[in-house]
Amino acid sequence: MSNIPTITLNDGNKIPQLGFGMYQIPKHEDAVKALTQALNNGYRLIDTAEVYQNQGAFQEALKNSGVKREDVYLTTKLWVSNASFAKAEKAIDEDLKELGTDYIDLMLLHQPYGDVYGAWNALAAAKRAGKIRSIGLSNFYPDLYMNLELAHEDKPALNQIEINPWFQQTNDVKFFQGRDVAVEAWAPFAEGKGDIFNNEVLKEIAENHHKTVGQVILRWLVQRSIIVIPKSVHDERQKENMDIFDFELTREEMEKIRHLDKGGSQFFDHRDPAVIDDIFGESLKQLRDSE
Ligand code: NAP
Repeated sequence: MSNIPTITLNDGNKIPQLGFGMYQIPKHEDAVKALTQALNNGYRLIDTAEVYQNQGAFQEALKNSGVKREDVYLTTKLWVSNASFAKAEKAIDEDLKELGTDYIDLMLLHQPYGDVYGAWNALAAAKRAGKIRSIGLSNFYPDLYMNLELAHEDKPALNQIEINPWFQQTNDVKFFQGRDVAVEAWAPFAEGKGDIFNNEVLKEIAENHHKTVGQVILRWLVQRSIIVIPKSVHDERQKENMDIFDFELTREEMEKIRHLDKGGSQFFDHRDPAVIDDIFGESLKQLRDSE
C-alpha cells in the first residue's frame, strides 16, 4: 500500500523514511484528530514524546483508523526529568501504559542532559526485556555520542537532530551516517521560520518539478538518506508532505539548496549554558529533587 521506503538500522530493524511529527499538539482531541487523519493518509511512523503530552492519543487514533499496531512504527522520547536509571525504568512502564501498547519501536533520550548514561542503561535493559525494539538519541553532538558509544555495549541506532535548509548540519550528518547511526531530521521546515515556504530558490526548484516548497525540502532530506517527520494538523498538508517519492532533485538543485545553509540552529544552541539553564534547568532540578 505504501510507497514509503525504509532504512535498516544498525540493530537490523527497519524504520520508514517518512513519518508524522506530533510536537505542539497538546490538546487530546486535537492530537487524536490529527493522528487519526495521518494514519488514514498512510503515515506509518509516528513521532511523539513524553514532553509533548499527547502519547495518550496513540491508542485512540489507532482504533479510529483501524490500522493495526504491528503496521505502525512508534517512536517516543524520554524527557530530561526522567534521565536516570531508576526514573527511566519507571517512565518507560508509564509510557507503555499511556500509549496503550506493550512495545515501543524506538525510544530516544530526548536531550543530552541529566544522567544520560544511567538513562541509556535503562533503555538498553528495556530493550532486552522486549519493551523497546530499538534505542537511540536526540540532540546529541558527536563528542558526547562517542563517549556513549565507546563506554556502552548497546550502540545507539539513530540520532534525531534539527536539520532544515537554514541549518543543514552537513558534518554531523556525515559523522553519524559514517558510524552507521541513522539520522532523523526534526523541524525539517524550521517550523516556517525565515519565511521558508516563500524562499525564491526553493520556489524555483519546486516549480521545475510541479511540486511545493515543502515537498522539495523533504525530498532534499530524503535524498541525503535522512529520515523525516514533518508535522501538520491539516489534512491537505499531511497528504502533500507524503507525496515526495515520485520525483528526484538534480545534483545542481541539491547544490543550490546547500548554499542556503546559515550554519546555526533556528531555535537554540544545545551547548549554550544559558540555554541549558533557561530551557532545561527546571527539569534538571526535578530530576535532582526526585533522586
Ligand atoms: P516542522 O515540521 O518543521 O514544521 C511544522 C510547521 O509547519 C507547523 O506550523 C505546520 O503547520 C507547518 N506545515 C507543515 N506542513 C506544511 C506545508 N506543507 N506547507 C506549509 N506549512 C506546513 O516542525 P516541528 O513540528 O517542530 O518538527 C517536526 C517533528 O519533529 C515534530 O512534530 C516532532 O515530532 C519532532 N521534533 C523533535 C525535536 C527534538 O528535540 N527531538 C524538536 C522539535 C521537533 P500546521 O500544523 O498548522 O499545518
